[in-house]
Amino acid sequence: MGQHLSRTVAEGRAFMQVINGQPADAMSGGRIDVVSPSDGKVFASIPAAGAADVDRAVKSSKKAFEEGPWSRMPAFERGRLLTKLGQLIEKNGDELAALESRDTGKPIRQGKADVVATMRYYEFYGGAADKIHGDTIPFLDGYTALTLREPHGVVAGIIPWNYPMQILARVAGAALAMGNTLVVKPAEDASLTTIRIAELALEAGFPEGVFNVVTGYGRDAGAALSAHPEIDYVTFTGSTMTGTAIQQAAAINNRGVTMELGGKSPQIVFADADLEKALPVLVNAIIQNGGQTCSAGSRVLLEKPIYETVAKELAARFGALVAKPHDADGDLGPMVNKKQQGQVRNLVAAAEEAGVSVLARGSIDPTAPEAGFYVEPTLFGSVDPLANIAQQEVFGPVLTLFAFDGEAEAVRLANSTDYGLVAGIWTKDGALQHRMAKRVRAGQVFVNGYGAGGGIELPFGGFKKSGHGREKGFEALFDMSATKTIVFNHG
Ligand code: NAP
Ligand code: MG
Repeated sequence: MGQHLSRTVAEGRAFMQVINGQPADAMSGGRIDVVSPSDGKVFASIPAAGAADVDRAVKSSKKAFEEGPWSRMPAFERGRLLTKLGQLIEKNGDELAALESRDTGKPIRQGKADVVATMRYYEFYGGAADKIHGDTIPFLDGYTALTLREPHGVVAGIIPWNYPMQILARVAGAALAMGNTLVVKPAEDASLTTIRIAELALEAGFPEGVFNVVTGYGRDAGAALSAHPEIDYVTFTGSTMTGTAIQQAAAINNRGVTMELGGKSPQIVFADADLEKALPVLVNAIIQNGGQTCSAGSRVLLEKPIYETVAKELAARFGALVAKPHDADGDLGPMVNKKQQGQVRNLVAAAEEAGVSVLARGSIDPTAPEAGFYVEPTLFGSVDPLANIAQQEVFGPVLTLFAFDGEAEAVRLANSTDYGLVAGIWTKDGALQHRMAKRVRAGQVFVNGYGAGGGIELPFGGFKKSGHGREKGFEALFDMSATKTIVFNHG
């Protein structure tokens, strides 16, 4: 794909929501400017939906669930539609990558990687749709007992701006495979690919109302959606604070929720680790997507004998990092919006004021537009584990280094935040790998590797404040359905 497309895609386009198989403006007529984080300029617009639009979308999804062809469609046919959608995503991959990249500021190669992962989600769940089944249960004499996995009904998906296409795919893939219908509310800062994918779902042949999209602010459209009495299940990815608000709203109707919240994930490097293998992964796990990744490896714990050497190596690599506009494909792009740029800058400045030592700073390409939302990657060394920068999720290209003395301290430090999403363990000692993997509180543990994002087949989710419920892999299909037990008395 030429650089040209990623700079001009969707220029001037007034995007529409997708409700009941039709393009839909907001009922109020309100619109939200879509800004490119690379230059701070408006290049398109989306509808600003409110409660009335949400109500329309939910009613359409409810009708599709209860009365439409979807409710009687065999599982393998739902699977075929998902597979077809994956194929259409691949076919339109250049446009989707360019859209995602321009809308969020992520480097174009990351946009392309996101397209590949997105396609894989629909392929995976397309294949899984007719392979999940219930049990028969040995029960009393004269009885037959069995279970079915049934869809919840209308699922509300509230999606963040960091990996909009991928996160939509893991929600939509699992929810639709199990026979739910869906109302999606993407983040107002990154709604474009969600709209395009709902359009492609119609092209693939999904019946109207199965895949609805409302766009707008979280406080308006998002709040109305999570509190809507006709929603049967809510799945959310985003900040812990908004997650709490959404759970409270869903609790009014006693609805189930999946919460994929933040992280402060550790990578634990023992003295015997293969450093050649570890070093690029330690850097990439925090720099990928500008650090705006829930599973970013934001804390690196180094065993004392190797602390100085590794800190020096990481400092050299951090110092060489350059933030560039999305289409220039730098080590990282700008942050997604001004608020995020401000949050990263403020947390870095506060840590410096508190005396945390800066080991290295990357740079911003001097030709990058001044009005873009760039930040310099920053590496902090010898951080106090209780310091704010050691505890709070920055969601930016900021890495903190800690020294530890032996296995027990490594476990204590790894588990010393409110979060528990992902962990990386680096050692050649097999027994130590197993002990650490069990003692670290995290939903995913990687040994001699790290997966920030990706891993379609691998169940993913948090302990502690990182959330609850599991997405990705086969497990997501359980969250997106409920067990029904049926007992026949034929004695
Ligand atoms: P956020 O508030 O959690 O937003 C995530 C989604 O929730 C967006 O679609 C947002 O819509 C929507 N939303 C906001 N308020 C809502 C409400 N009251 N009811 C229902 N939906 C609501 O995240 P943010 O403010 O954009 O970012 C803040 C911080 O969240 C980041 O700095 C980062 O630490 C964290 N974050 C984590 C993840 C993750 O993957 N775990 C992803 C993104 C952000 P609008 O954006 O349209 O308002
Ligand atoms: Mg944007």
